Amino acid sequence: MNVQKITNGLVIDHIRAGTGIRIFNWLKLDKVPFSVALIMNVPSLNRGKKDIIKISTVLDIDYSILGFIDPSITVNVVEDEHVVRKIGLALPEKVENIIKCRNPRCITSTETNIPHVFTLIDRKRAEYACIYCDEMYRAGIGEFL
Ligand SMILES: [Zn+2]
Repeated sequence: MNVQKITNGLVIDHIRAGTGIRIFNWLKLDKVPFSVALIMNVPSLNRGKKDIIKISTVLDIDYSILGFIDPSITVNVVEDEHVVRKIGLALPEKVENIIKCRNPRCITSTETNIPHVFTLIDRKRAEYACIYCDEMYRAGIGEFL
């Protein structure tokens, strides 16, 4: 499959196959006025398959969200068809209003004006806990524990 090279912009690479659409939606790329491409199931040497997103402008992205979804994602900044910078991602210490606590007894389930805040409690296991009720969530696999 041949997808046009971008001259200037961002290439979000090494996305775990199947998660590209989530990132695409989270970054609201369906609403932007410039060219974007989501390429799915690209053969990858070390991962089997991966997804890639190409954005034809240097968008101001909240990288903490990408790190939360999958810290092995890489972001390349492209200028004049050359990669001029690689942005490394890490799990953020805190995420706000990215995932919703699923505990029905949590205060966020009854009070609608409270932000859903999770903090990183175990970097190695990518585990987060709701600051109100300690409900556990694992980033990467994207599931409550
Ligand atoms: Zn909670």
